[in-house]
Amino acid sequence: MRALVIAEHDNRHLKPATLAAAEAARQLGGGVDILVAGARCAAVAEAAAAIPGVETVLLADDAVFEQALAEPLADLIAGLAGGYDALLAAATAAGKNVMPRVAALLDVQQVSDIVAVVSPDTFVRPIYAGNALATVRSADAKKVITVRTTAFEAAAGSGAAAVKPVAAVADAGLSQFLERRVTESVRPELTSARVIVAGGRGIGSDGAFALVSQLADILGGAVGASRAAVDAGFIPNDAQVGQTGKIVAPDLYIAVGISGAIQHLAGMKDSKVIVAINKDGEAPIFQVADYGLVADVFEAVPALIDCLNR
Ligand SMILES: Cc1cc2nc3c(=O)[nH]c(=O)nc-3n(C[C@H](O)[C@H](O)[C@H](O)COP(=O)(O)OP(=O)(O)OC[C@H]3O[C@@H](n4cnc5c(N)ncnc54)[C@H](O)[C@@H]3O)c2cc1C
Repeated sequence: MRALVIAEHDNRHLKPATLAAAEAARQLGGGVDILVAGARCAAVAEAAAAIPGVETVLLADDAVFEQALAEPLADLIAGLAGGYDALLAAATAAGKNVMPRVAALLDVQQVSDIVAVVSPDTFVRPIYAGNALATVRSADAKKVITVRTTAFEAAAGSGAAAVKPVAAVADAGLSQFLERRVTESVRPELTSARVIVAGGRGIGSDGAFALVSQLADILGGAVGASRAAVDAGFIPNDAQVGQTGKIVAPDLYIAVGISGAIQHLAGMKDSKVIVAINKDGEAPIFQVADYGLVADVFEAVPALIDCLNR
């Protein structure tokens, strides 16, 4: 059994999601290599080489991979697949973009969003918006797998893998990079934040949403939101947590004015400590909360901010 993990990065930094995918690959029980495809991304290859358990970093450093377009990347991965039994990437937007293409090119069925490795061909994955877990066995000779990053802790320690250059693929010209619009934020990224303060429809307006941001800033956390808060325009949709948003598992998740619909819980119920503030004592969020405060957010949150500022 040999596994290839696809590194996620921005040509300068390796994204933490890759560590989770590498840990899932390690649990398959065979050798693990990492593919770093990018442009002028030697620093990323160096970081990947330090992941414990990784034997070789395959470095495809070429302008064709600079913008991480899924089409040339999928061609590259499919071309390398001959030497591997399993190909893994994080189940992030980037991983979900490229891996189905790889599976199609290899004519195998992808195993998506795994949360546990039972054996090299058997995996656990959530279904029905996280309300049930399915144990699935893949009969495909090559496993194409995406990994739920919150389910695998990065292995401790440090490795010293060899870095081996690999040839790029010719750009088939199927897609073209036009522009990138990036949300700049001084706050931590939602999916890797240790603390998240998330607001829901109960916040009432985008102006009042500043309360949520203020509390997040005091705690050094990220700001999240329910879909209702996003739909109401309180906050941009990249803050959405849930089934159709981001999957998070911070040390502390504070849900403010969020009812706790199953689609929201699907994205945050694995958080280590959940605190809920809601004026309705019957709100479903209290069923998953470790600490619940039945209170009006406009009284409770300013009081909390006041205490933390003292
Ligand atoms: C296919 C599908 C996918 C979906 N994906 C997602 C997803 O990814 N993420 C997601 O979040 N939702 C998702 N939803 C929507 C989901 O079903 C809920 O509608 C949504 O999560 C509700 O958001 P909310 O809790 O903010 O709003 P509500 O359910 O309206 O809850 C607001 C809460 O605020 C409380 N409140 C009101 N005023 C105050 C106050 N002053 N003080 C304290 N508490 C107050 C109320 O008691 C209530 O519990 C999806 C739905 C579908 C059908």
